[in-house]
Amino acid sequence: MSRPQQITVLGATGSIGLSTLDVISRHPERYRVFALSGFTRLAELEALCLLYRPRYAVVPDAEAVRHLQGGLQAAGLTTRVLVGEAGLCEVAAHPEVDAVMAAIVGAAGLKPTLAAVEAGKKVLLANKEALVMSGALFMQAVRKSGAVLLPIDSEHNAIFQCLPTDYARGLGAVGVRRILLTASGGPFRETPLAELEQVSPEQACAHPNWSMGRKISVDSASMMNKGLELIEACWLFDAKPAQVEVVIHPQSVIHSLVDYVDGSVLAQLGNPDMRTPISHALAWPERIDSGVAPLDLFSVARLDFLPPDELRFPCLRLARQAAECGGTAPAMLNAANEVAVAAFLGRRIRFPEIASIIDAVLNFEPAVAVESLDVVLAADSRARALAEQWLNRHGR
Ligand code: NAD
Ligand code: MG
Repeated sequence: MSRPQQITVLGATGSIGLSTLDVISRHPERYRVFALSGFTRLAELEALCLLYRPRYAVVPDAEAVRHLQGGLQAAGLTTRVLVGEAGLCEVAAHPEVDAVMAAIVGAAGLKPTLAAVEAGKKVLLANKEALVMSGALFMQAVRKSGAVLLPIDSEHNAIFQCLPTDYARGLGAVGVRRILLTASGGPFRETPLAELEQVSPEQACAHPNWSMGRKISVDSASMMNKGLELIEACWLFDAKPAQVEVVIHPQSVIHSLVDYVDGSVLAQLGNPDMRTPISHALAWPERIDSGVAPLDLFSVARLDFLPPDELRFPCLRLARQAAECGGTAPAMLNAANEVAVAAFLGRRIRFPEIASIIDAVLNFEPAVAVESLDVVLAADSRARALAEQWLNRHGR
């Protein structure tokens, strides 16, 4: 076998980052950790550095650099500690890196993920917000550099597995009628609507099937996660929003399906454990052991499917509207959502107000065409400012 692949893990201290390191640990002959990044939980980042001995680590500020560098040197490590966004971009694009796991949460991951794409890396995309914000530019950069873009989101990874290898010819050309994007419906699928006013961040983060970071857990509870995923699917697979149908499937065993014109529907199934899509993307086009238990269909016993309720989940409707509108609308949707979710987690707003804030921002500011990254970043800043104004206006 050839030399081990050098892997940069952006967002190593998070849920996806740790699952990625778990898979890497199972295959030391195939993968080496080249760089790790963390933003909070820096003691955990130090412990990960001691374990994986990366060439580089990236932290948010100079104080954290001094602290981590000191700790690692004392343990005899020569890891170089870099700082901030420039450091993240450097380890994403470094000539010795083979693959980058893009697992920073939110808009903060955009520039480092794009740096990996522009450097033509194999990019394992968990950071869906980056693609939602900059879709057209992101996909242009993939084509220009020849980067290999592999979806980590379980639904998109499932769709990728159910599509033929030449799907880039166009969904119509390969006989695809629809993409069926499954959603668990989250913890509030059956909560009486009036009670949604009172739900707490803890309840929103208690997902029935998946263990994830707090931001994506709230997005799953509001179904904004499915909205972002709808936009993500449109860019990844060159689909129109109308070709992507959301299906509530509470068991989270079918991770998504592809419906072909001859009536065949292909699905990918598995236990809800992100190590499956991570292993798939790391080893693609080969297969490796992920540590995930085999699916026991007899204990699953039944699979249910329901249509989504847009009255209960207005964020899904807002995301579909932003997808159809195009231009800067998805970037503004994403930015307003990030501010609103942070406000909900900080107990400044009630759960249904997440959708109210996004709706207000999208109604206030018309979308414009995306010609450059600067246009995307300006739309992101403007939407954040408008969302903050909403909070101030409502005394939060
Ligand atoms: P998480 O909150 O557990 O981890 C986020 C990581 O990003 C951490 O390492 C954190 O230190 C880092 N980070 C946070 N803010 C940062 C900033 N401003 N600058 C640099 N780094 C920063 O989140 P997660 O659940 O691992 O999700 C990561 C990404 O993967 C998200 O985009 C999410 O939507 C996507 N995703 C996650 C799952 C899942 O099961 N957790 C599934 C599908 C997609
Ligand atoms: Mg998903």
